[in-house]
Amino acid sequence: MHIGIPKLVFNNNQISYEVDITCAQGNRTLWYSLDKSFSDLLCDSGDAALLGMLIPAMLAGEDIHIQGAVSEQLYYNVSGPLQQAIQIIIPSLKKIKIIAEEIDCEQPKRAKGVITGFSAGIDSYCAMADHYYSDVTEAFKVTHLLFNNVGSHGVGGEALFRERSDRLTPHAQALGLPLLIVNSNLHEFYCPEIGFQRTHTLRNTSVALLLQQGIGRYLYASSFSYADTSIGESYDISMSDAVLVPMLSTAMLNAMPTGAQYSRVEKTLRVAEVPDSYTALDVCLGPENASSSANCGKCYKCLRTLNTLEIAGYLDRYESVFDMKNYKRYRSKGFMKILITKKPLSAEVRAYAKEKQFSFPLISHLVALVMRNQK
Ligand SMILES: [Zn+2]
Repeated sequence: MHIGIPKLVFNNNQISYEVDITCAQGNRTLWYSLDKSFSDLLCDSGDAALLGMLIPAMLAGEDIHIQGAVSEQLYYNVSGPLQQAIQIIIPSLKKIKIIAEEIDCEQPKRAKGVITGFSAGIDSYCAMADHYYSDVTEAFKVTHLLFNNVGSHGVGGEALFRERSDRLTPHAQALGLPLLIVNSNLHEFYCPEIGFQRTHTLRNTSVALLLQQGIGRYLYASSFSYADTSIGESYDISMSDAVLVPMLSTAMLNAMPTGAQYSRVEKTLRVAEVPDSYTALDVCLGPENASSSANCGKCYKCLRTLNTLEIAGYLDRYESVFDMKNYKRYRSKGFMKILITKKPLSAEVRAYAKEKQFSFPLISHLVALVMRNQK
C-alpha cells in the first residue's frame, strides 16, 4: 500500500485533508473534512492516514510505504508493538512493514487544546464530569468536543451522522464549547470482517491526529474499566483501550484513555450528578427509535441505563429525554435480563441492586427462574 502526501483543500465552508491511497484494491483518495473555521487546528502530516490505514493494510498483508512525514513515536509503535497487540485482538491480521520516507524526530511543544469525543452518552458525560465540570487542572480540561463519521453510524450512514450531529449541536452550545463535526470516507477502506466495534479506537484516534496543530491532548472515553481490561481475541476493541490508546500518541498529541477507573454503574451515577445531562443524555441505539423522545426507553442500552437510574432513585431526573411510557412497559424485561445475564455489566447492576436493597419486580424473578430452568 502506498500512502501519498496529504493536502489540505478548501471547499466552500469546509476544509479537507486528502491523501491518495494506492493498494491492491485500486487507487482511492482518503479524506476527512470539517468546518473551515477550524482550519488552524489541522495538521498536514501523514500521521492520521498512517493510523487510519494500518488495519486495512494488515488485513490485506500489504506493507505500507508512506510519503508524508510521520511522527517518530507513532512510527515506532505502529511498526511493532501496536501491530502485535491488535493482531491478538483480530488474529486474521498479518504483520507488515512500515516504510516511511520522512520521520519527524522533533519534539515540538504540544498545543493547549484538549479534545474528547462527544455523543452525549454515559461515557461522554462521565468524561465531561471529570474533565470539564470538576476543577481539573487546566492541561486536562476539555476545550473542544469531537463528533466523527468514521463508521459508527452503521446502516444509517451519513444521513444518521448528520441527524445525530444536529441533535448534539445545541448541547455543545449550552456547554460553551466548540463541536468539531468531522466527516470522512475512512470506513470505505474497512470491510465488514473488520467492523467498527473491532477497530474504532484506531479510526477515531486517526481523526484526533488530524488536529495536532491546535490539540495537544485527546481523551478517549473507555467503555471498559481497568478491571475488565484485557488483550485477547474480541468482537470489541474497547476491552483493550486502556493499553492501546497511549500507543497512538505522538510528540504533539497525548492520546489517553479516560473513565476506565469506573464501573458502568459508577459512571451512570457520576453522570446523574451532572444537571446538563438531564435534558441531553443520549444512550439510545438509534435509527429504530420511533418515539418523540431522544431515547426510546426500550432498547437494551436505554433499559440498562434506566434500570440503573431506577435502582439509584434518580429516574425522575431523566423523564424529559426518555420515552417513559415505553420504559414502564419494558422495565421488568430489563430487570429480568440483569438477573440472568452473565455479562460483567449486568453483574455490576445486580451487585448494586443488592447494595441498595432494591426489590426487583416479581415477574422479572419468575421469568428469570423459568429461563434458568430451561437451560
Ligand atoms: Zn433506546
